[in-house]
Parts: sequence; C-alpha cells; structure tokens
Amino acid sequence: MNQPYDILIIGGGVIGSASAYSLMKKDPGLRLAVIEKDPSYSHASSTLSMANIRLQFSLKENIQISQYAMDALDRFSEDMAVGDERPDVGFHHEGNLFLYGEKEEPAARDSLKLQQSLGCPVRWWTPDQVREAYPLYDASPYVGATFCGRDGFIDAYSMLMGYRQKARSLGARYITDEVTAIDKDSGRVTGVRLASGERLTAAVVLNCAGAWAAEVAKTAGVRLPVIPTKRQVFAMDPAKKSDRPLPLTILPSGFYFRTETGGLILMGWSLPEDPVGFDFSWDRERYMDLMWPTLAEFVPSFDTAKLMRGWAGLYADNTLDHNAILGPWPELKGLFLANGFSGHGLQQAPAVGRYMAERILGLTPTLDLSIFTPDRILENRPVSEDGIV
Ligand SMILES: Cc1cc2nc3c(=O)[nH]c(=O)nc-3n(C[C@H](O)[C@H](O)[C@H](O)COP(=O)(O)OP(=O)(O)OC[C@H]3O[C@@H](n4cnc5c(N)ncnc54)[C@H](O)[C@@H]3O)c2cc1C
Repeated sequence: MNQPYDILIIGGGVIGSASAYSLMKKDPGLRLAVIEKDPSYSHASSTLSMANIRLQFSLKENIQISQYAMDALDRFSEDMAVGDERPDVGFHHEGNLFLYGEKEEPAARDSLKLQQSLGCPVRWWTPDQVREAYPLYDASPYVGATFCGRDGFIDAYSMLMGYRQKARSLGARYITDEVTAIDKDSGRVTGVRLASGERLTAAVVLNCAGAWAAEVAKTAGVRLPVIPTKRQVFAMDPAKKSDRPLPLTILPSGFYFRTETGGLILMGWSLPEDPVGFDFSWDRERYMDLMWPTLAEFVPSFDTAKLMRGWAGLYADNTLDHNAILGPWPELKGLFLANGFSGHGLQQAPAVGRYMAERILGLTPTLDLSIFTPDRILENRPVSEDGIV
C-alpha cells in the first residue's frame, strides 16, 4: 500500500482493532494502517484482562456502551466472519453480583434505578436471596446486592483476533513496528516515526496505545493523565468446588472473584498502593496475605485451596476520573484519542470503535459519547462513575 495514508492507528489492541474495523467498514476506500509493536500481545491489557462485560455502571453513557457491547458480541461470529472462519467469543452469561454495605446502599439504589430505566435486567437482592442463589457465600455482613444475569465474561483473545482479522480482510494494513514519535507541523499531525527508521505520513493519527498512551502522546507535546498501573490476577483451585459457576462477585472493598472454566477461581483487587510502571511481575505474598484470607472470609468453604498461577497486566489509568478519553485533541489538529479506559475498556471496544470511526469521518455519532471528550482534561472537569473496579 502506498503512502500517504489517510489514517494511522497507534496500537492494535482491542480498541485499535475495533476502530480499524469500524473505519474500514464505513469507508472501504480508506488507506489505513495499524502499527503494533507486539503482535503476540503478550503485554497488552486486552489479553491480560478479566474479560468481564457488565451493564452495572452508574453513568448513562457507560451503561449504553455496554448495552451495545452485549448486542455486538451476540452478533460477533457473524459480523467478524472472514470466509469460513467465525470467531467465537464464548460469552458466559454467569452474571455479576455487587455486594453493598450500609454506606454504599443509597448510591447503589440510584444506579439500579438508572440501569432499570434503560431496560437492563438488574435486580436488588437481599442477603437471604444471595445465600439462596449461592449457598457458599456468607452475605451476612452486607445489606444487599445487585445481580444482573446478562453480565458475564468472554474470551478476550478471540474478540481481539476477530476485530484484527476482519479489519485486515476489509483492507486495513497491520505493521509490526514501534511508533517512536508523532510528527506535527503548524499545529497539525503529519504522521509518525517508527523504530525501524521509517516515516509514515497521514493527516489523522489515532492514539490507541493503551497503558503506553501518555508516552506516545508526549512525543507530540500532549500531556495525558494516563498512567500504567499494575493490576494482579490470581487463579486458585479450591478443594471444595461450587456446584454451579459463580458470577463475578464484587465486595464493597473492590475485591472481586469469579469461576473460570474448569472450576478454578480467578480473583483480583485494585489497591491504591499498586505500583505505576511497566512491571509485569506478580506476587505470591499478596495472594497468601491478602487475597486468599479475604476470599475465605466471604466463602468459608474455600479455606482449602491451591494457588495455580497468577499474572499482572496494566490498567491505562485515567487519573482525572478513571473513564475513557474519546475524540479529537483540541490543541493538535488530526490527533484523535481513545485512551484511559482504566479497568473497563474491553467491553467498551465495540461502541468506542464505532464512535471513533464516526468522529474521524465526520459522521453523526450513533451514540453520543461527547461526555468523554478530551477537552475535559484541559478544563479539569472529571466525569463521575461509581462502578469503577
Ligand atoms: C488485570 C486487568 C483486568 C481487566 N479486566 C477487565 C474487564 O474485566 N473488563 C473490561 O472491559 N476491561 C478490563 N480490563 C481493561 C481492559 O483490558 C483494557 O481497558 C482494554 O484492553 C484496553 O485496550 P487497548 O487496546 O486500549 O490496550 P491494549 O490491549 O494494551 O493495546 C494497546 C496496544 O498498543 C501497543 N503499543 C503501545 N505503544 C505502542 C507504540 N509506541 N507503537 C506501537 N504499538 C504500541 C501495545 O503493544 C498494545 O498491544 C482489565 C485490565 C487489566 C490489566
């Protein structure tokens, strides 16, 4: 494909690939390249996530984004088919269960009202209802819970590959290289420079570099409040297993766990002391000293279990408000951002891909996500979401 390109996308994770797919679908004539430094995606958040999809957010737009994700994932095999290949994201609708203490109850009831008004099948459960559904749980310290059986988890790798292969089949070019700088001239972007020494030119550059987004933006003099924060996940094998899959269960402290296929239990906890940096090591002591005791208090029968493995991935943590940053950067023409997803970007990929394509192509957005405008960074105007995990 000859230069110049129309659009360059930095980062071919789930956000970059969903954006590439939506752009090519809307305008098959585009000259578009996605630059991805690691096509094995070994450190990408997309492949290291818990892969949970949920309707239980407190902000209308975040709920609508997930509603669209549910629909898009139901149609995914069909929409992403390339020849005879049909990706299967294997949506496990095991549900999400959020537990609340007295302090959290009023905000939880407000969110529930909003979710129900938008047609989400979320219900309030008393501690007795929690026990009835999941007899292993000790829900007695809590005043109640919200449950949504439509929520669940998917195979994130299949989702990423589905978008990537479909985008390629529609004409997007994937280049294995690292963007070392965004080039600009007279207040607008002109392309990117690569580690290989090559220069690519385009009037539009979309930053989808995940946890590396601020580093990439800085090369164009743009400061983003996005930091790479390490989050750890542990998989353990309990001696006594639940006779039914356990939903993603989130305690008010932020500790969460769910059943993984094969009866393992996956768990995580975003903690304020989690280190910032590109560190992917995981730490057994955190499991022994913190995670396991917390889990065993809520599920007493899990007091005998074996740690099987763990991993660490990075949240692209938006320190302003932990929500996505979507749209054009007001101070540099041609630079678009899809960054800062913190812990919920995987499920936002279908709606964000579509929105970024519509914004870049100058179309009216199907779903108005202007609340997530990058302008709010310059104006120090955070957007509030209670459902950050
Ligand atoms: C432990 C954990 C659990 C999570 N759980 C969930 C969950 O349950 N549900 C949910 O919705 N979200 C979850 N998330 C968040 C979710 O994974 C991310 O928000 C989402 O994957 C972001 O996708 P992305 O494409 O922006 O980033 P990534 O997947 O990280 O992709 C960015 C890509 O950019 C590439 N790149 C970076 N810099 C350059 C460069 N200079 N040149 C070329 N390429 C570059 C990287 O190699 C990478 O492949 C979780 C994240 C973690 C870490």
